[in-house]
Amino acid sequence: MAVYEREREEMVDRLVASGYLKSPRVMEAMKKVPRHLFVPEDVEASAYYDYPLPIGEGQTISAPHMVAMMCDALGLEEGQKVLEVGAGSGYHACVVAEVVKREVVAMERIERLAARARENIARAGYGNIRVVVGDGTRGYAEGAPYDRILVTAGSPDVPEPLIEQLVVGGRLLIPVGEMYVQHLLLVTKGERGVEKTALGGCMFVPLIGEHGW
Ligand code: SAH
Repeated sequence: MAVYEREREEMVDRLVASGYLKSPRVMEAMKKVPRHLFVPEDVEASAYYDYPLPIGEGQTISAPHMVAMMCDALGLEEGQKVLEVGAGSGYHACVVAEVVKREVVAMERIERLAARARENIARAGYGNIRVVVGDGTRGYAEGAPYDRILVTAGSPDVPEPLIEQLVVGGRLLIPVGEMYVQHLLLVTKGERGVEKTALGGCMFVPLIGEHGW
């Protein structure tokens, strides 16, 4: 058995039992991606508990239940084109890539974190994630339009470029609110505009950029 395989299965079982995780595709993905390879070595033993962990530069890898809930709410399916804003450790992008089975673009504003994310992703054996350094509040027009966009940092509002870069029928998931407390907002783009649904409270590090803080 590979290292931490049992811990990973137990983590997924707990997320399912507590109602956070409903999609079988996401369950499979979270059983596969080795979260311990995405956290600093000194906290590796805590990788399969359900809380955020520090990843350097004042940033954190989201708690597993948040990754699970976000992937579920996005309604991820094989073949979708996805943009993540806030690559951090690269973990969430790998979970997404496991589900969509195609290249995921993950943006990160801090160069050192982007470099580490690329290392983590390679170590975990994923070749289909493009980590782009830049201000993700502007999106990434080169890869647009996207079927799904997820933002893993808290924003004062929904950045307009992200709505523009979404296909009609696409979904955008973003924490919106105050600097350190937000609610998760699901934005669905239709022919006649966007529909917004609040999904509950959350706490993310701030989204810093032109259309963020
Ligand atoms: N999804 C990550 C955790 C994200 S933490 C994971 O799986 O590990 C949020 C990240 O968003 C931080 O790394 C922070 O540097 C980054 N961030 C903040 N503002 C950003 C912006 N405008 N563009 C891109 N990344 C940003």
